[in-house]
Amino acid sequence: MRYYRNKKLSDTVYDFIIVGSGVGGSTLFKELNKKYPDKKILLLEKGNNKINYNNLGKTIQVLYITSLGGSALGAVGNAIKINLKKIGIKDGSIYEEIERELNVKKVPEGHINEKSKYLFNYGFERTPKFMDFEGCNACGLCARKVCQYKWTPVMFLTNPNPYSKILSNFHVSSLAENGSFFTVEGYDLLMGKKRIFKGEKVIVCGGGINSPRILSNILDNEHLGRNLFVDTFITVGGVLNNSHLDRSIPMALYKVYDGFLLSPHYSILLYNKVKGDNTNKYDDKNICSKDIYGIMIKIRDENKGIVGGNKIYKELTKKDEKLLSKGIKRASDILYDMGLERIYKTIPRGSHPGGTCAMGKVVDKNFETEIEGLYVCDSSIFPETVGLPPILGIIAMGKKLANIL
Ligand SMILES: Cc1cc2nc3c(=O)[nH]c(=O)nc-3n(C[C@H](O)[C@H](O)[C@H](O)COP(=O)(O)OP(=O)(O)OC[C@H]3O[C@@H](n4cnc5c(N)ncnc54)[C@H](O)[C@@H]3O)c2cc1C
Repeated sequence: MRYYRNKKLSDTVYDFIIVGSGVGGSTLFKELNKKYPDKKILLLEKGNNKINYNNLGKTIQVLYITSLGGSALGAVGNAIKINLKKIGIKDGSIYEEIERELNVKKVPEGHINEKSKYLFNYGFERTPKFMDFEGCNACGLCARKVCQYKWTPVMFLTNPNPYSKILSNFHVSSLAENGSFFTVEGYDLLMGKKRIFKGEKVIVCGGGINSPRILSNILDNEHLGRNLFVDTFITVGGVLNNSHLDRSIPMALYKVYDGFLLSPHYSILLYNKVKGDNTNKYDDKNICSKDIYGIMIKIRDENKGIVGGNKIYKELTKKDEKLLSKGIKRASDILYDMGLERIYKTIPRGSHPGGTCAMGKVVDKNFETEIEGLYVCDSSIFPETVGLPPILGIIAMGKKLANIL
């Protein structure tokens, strides 16, 4: 991979400038390089090789990652085929190609946590994952460290054509129309200075939180930054001695209910809750992370949040609260059956932000904004959540846009 930082770069007019190297941006970069081996394609990315978590919001903590490869660096490998009709992809066969490319397989029986096997009694299924189970040692750290046995978008950035460039550590701050091309202005964090690039077509792939921010100075659209969903989740659970969920493949099983899904999930927040409970009957000193067992409840939340400037506004609606209560009840019943005596719950969080440049409101069915040549391709264009892990769906959208361009 090459990182160009020479001054002449700024004089070039690129055929395509892609902003953001997450799932949407990396897919587009890969597909456009394949389709147009002679075109000049520039990928601008704010982050670098380190995993940099962002955590915003008061009532609901919203998580995303600004790094080369984006939020999927922290993904736990869930590879679910979501329904894409709302973004104009009616033919599910696109998933066959994606599953082949990402080597998607269901978690093998041998990799399932022993205590979690109890969930088969409730109709839970093994989760399909983009993980290489031959190499995976089930360390349980998928969300915290980069691992060669899990697909990440960085794997889509390896073979650019000779005219393509990837510039990381570059924070895009504004876009402008300039006659026959766009100017993309930003700050080179390594050089410590402002730089401007020119492109005929610009595709913004900054993710559900950052795409509306990047577009805010060029687009005057009342829906920009609104319509935010995050697939709110909480984890409930407590002490189940020697369950070792902390060193198991996260979310190895799942079950979809009406409006929410349940999946076994170790959470450090849950561990802290149990440790911090002075009224529990356990001797705090003896409780280790290996003794904590939890189930995640992830709901199909309402798209009523807003990204505004550097802040986000996202509350639980009445409907969200109802769904969470239903999910907590289901999960708690199962956990009591498994032998837990007291159930704790974490704060609500969300790790699938989207909806803020919704198709039909901010972009049209060809992913184009009201400004010709300016596109968006990431989780922000989903009009509403499907309440399921979106990575395969975002890859499908990247492939579709590459076909259109
Ligand atoms: C902990 C965690 C676990 C997850 N697990 C799963 C899972 O198992 N399966 C699944 O399907 N989904 C999972 N998700 C969700 C999934 O990772 C995201 O939905 C997906 O990565 C979103 O892709 P995207 O292209 O929309 O945005 P992102 O991946 O967030 O990419 C946006 C990119 O734009 C860059 N950027 C932002 N602003 C600027 C700027 N101003 N200038 C330049 N670059 C910029 C960012 O650095 C980033 O690289 C998980 C998310 C988290 C946080």
